[in-house]
Amino acid sequence: MLQLNHVDVCYGSFKALTDISMTVDAGELVVLLGANGAGKSSLFNAISGLVKPTAGEIQFEDKQLNGMKASAVVASGVVQCAEGRKLFPQMSVMQNLMMGAYVHRRDRQGNRKRLNEVLELFPILADKADEPAGSLSGGQQQMVAIGRAMMSRPRLLMLDEPSLGLAPLVVKQVFETVKQINSLGTTVLLAEQNAFAALKIAHRAYVMENGHLVMEGDRETMLGNEQVRKAYIGA
Ligand code: ATP
Repeated sequence: MLQLNHVDVCYGSFKALTDISMTVDAGELVVLLGANGAGKSSLFNAISGLVKPTAGEIQFEDKQLNGMKASAVVASGVVQCAEGRKLFPQMSVMQNLMMGAYVHRRDRQGNRKRLNEVLELFPILADKADEPAGSLSGGQQQMVAIGRAMMSRPRLLMLDEPSLGLAPLVVKQVFETVKQINSLGTTVLLAEQNAFAALKIAHRAYVMENGHLVMEGDRETMLGNEQVRKAYIGA
């Protein structure tokens, strides 16, 4: 579904990503592990069209994404839920959710259907629909951010550190929801530092260090790998 071939990203003379080749198959939940600054957000931003790769190719289904505008990438079915949620705090929860539907604004019936699905995933958001998004708890704000991304009807949903800054119990709920979104048919690419929780729900994972992919494997291989356990799970 998604294929990256030898992708580089530079910020001026600083090379943030070097020779990244990876795939995500339809239906998979793939995790990208890496410490702070490893390059996970740069990779996501390259896929979403927010930064331009300096080399390589990014292919989604039959489309070449590199060179596409970010809005065209969303329209093609690749939607990023950015690190730090990036909500509109003064706007209501419902208005935030509906921002995600902008790309399908002419399809009112489809948007209503999708809104019902999102509210089924996050029932609490129906109760909070008219409240300013900024007044919600961290976990609820993360639900709004994921819900807004789901309103864009992704075929590939990219989640950048959705567990950041959340209490352990809330982290568990977020990961359960991500797993549910995947089982309902959306392919997911998840960037995380919370390696253990992420690997538990993943089919496969890549490990990124200093802008390079250094390891790849399925869930069992990664959970059993001593290097991964030492560096990312603390065991
Ligand atoms: P984090 O979890 O902290 O966001 P990350 O793994 O997502 O980390 P990136 O944000 O992609 O990593 O950053 C990779 C490297 O690129 C870091 O050294 C960062 O300082 C640098 N970097 C990121 N964005 C820019 C930018 N716009 N200009 C210059 N350097 C940047």
